[in-house]
Amino acid sequence: MQAAEHARDYLTQVNARSVAPTPDAVERLKRLRITLPEQPRDASEVLSLLHEVGSPATVASAGGRYFGFVIGGALPVSVAANWLAAAWDQNAAFRVMSPVAAELEEVAAQWLIDLLHLPQGSATAFVTGATMANFTCLAAARRAVLLKAGWDVDADGLFGAPPITVVVGEEVHISMLKALGMLGLGKKRVVRVKVDDQGRIRDDGIPPLSGPTIICLQAGNVNTGSFDPAEPICRLARQHGAWVHVDGAFGLWARAAPGRAPLALGFELADSWAVDAHKWLNVPYDSGLAFVRDAGALQGAMAAAADYLQLSGEREPCHFTPEFSRRARAVDLWAALHHLGRSGVAEMVERCCRHASLFAEQMTRAGYPPLNDVRLNQVLISFGSAERTQRIIAAVQRQGTCWCGGTVWQGKTAMRISVSGWATKDEDVTRSAAAILEIVQRES
Ligand SMILES: *Cc1c(COP(=O)(O)O)cnc(C)c1O
Repeated sequence: MQAAEHARDYLTQVNARSVAPTPDAVERLKRLRITLPEQPRDASEVLSLLHEVGSPATVASAGGRYFGFVIGGALPVSVAANWLAAAWDQNAAFRVMSPVAAELEEVAAQWLIDLLHLPQGSATAFVTGATMANFTCLAAARRAVLLKAGWDVDADGLFGAPPITVVVGEEVHISMLKALGMLGLGKKRVVRVKVDDQGRIRDDGIPPLSGPTIICLQAGNVNTGSFDPAEPICRLARQHGAWVHVDGAFGLWARAAPGRAPLALGFELADSWAVDAHKWLNVPYDSGLAFVRDAGALQGAMAAAADYLQLSGEREPCHFTPEFSRRARAVDLWAALHHLGRSGVAEMVERCCRHASLFAEQMTRAGYPPLNDVRLNQVLISFGSAERTQRIIAAVQRQGTCWCGGTVWQGKTAMRISVSGWATKDEDVTRSAAAILEIVQRES
């Protein structure tokens, strides 16, 4: 009850405060630096302190004017489902530990495969985010391409295995390299392919393919929102038995919105897909999804058995994930999908894209056209020199009406506007654009 009241208090004010916490609020966090109490404390006192000191020191990404990174908010229905799931305290590893978690995973997995138009029968893993989804998919890829070469990597390891060629675009997301590193495939030994002026892999830059090969594509470049040319690359990969993996952390959601789906055509021809739910689907952290066409490859990489583990004969969640014990994150995901329905997801994705266009129009009118083609939810704006652009970004963050981050993309310093929150309304965009442009005028 008390937590619900604090949360309501927080969420009803989140749009009225500075998006970044004030320096004072951050300073007051020192009040939390106490030694571990010797004696128990009243739970309500603990919660009050958390709200009083913690709430003001949050970043208001739950509100309508946070445009940093690619973040998204959390739909109220999914927050509520998340609370219920926390009260249930279910361990989602095995069906026998939580029939409800196992069931909701199966239902949500099928809904997601339908929604994203991925191949029927693909295996789904519910993981923490796109980094772990990339890791999970690449573990399946590593297994499959080496099995074809007569090597069981999960049993025998990488020492002595045939080498795997890993192909990525020059603008590969850092989390993909991190996943490759964790899997022993190396962050640096990748083949980097040239990209075009939107950051898309140039399909004529793919090297001649032979031997075990994994090609990593992007659906949604983290700066521009652009999509790699999936269709020709997937066809080429098929001819040579290469595995195509897609980092679609946010961009793959374009496939759920009929107006944007043409941008992401051809990705269904790939072999595996990493997608975030905590970004564009707007469910609470942490929530990501790995999909693998060859369910056996994923299960072969992830399944583990022991005599004390009671198997049900049905889908066992942990046979698809790196983890055993896990929160039942399918609960909030299922709730969001059930609540929105197919049209609600499409509308949310479309609305964010429309808001990105609205930003692009306002900036263009003021003489600052985006550096990128704004087709999805990402907008890159330069305000002249790198120094001036950085100064403006810092002032925008300090001023507090909205929050945008910065980037250096293809040699140009830019402000990055990413719209992925369900709570953003038209007036949030107009108000934020006006605040940014006022600062731009001042910082001439
Ligand atoms: C955010 C993002 C990731 C990493 O996702 P996490 O959920 O933070 O692990 C990977 N790739 C792209 C394109 C992203 O935008």
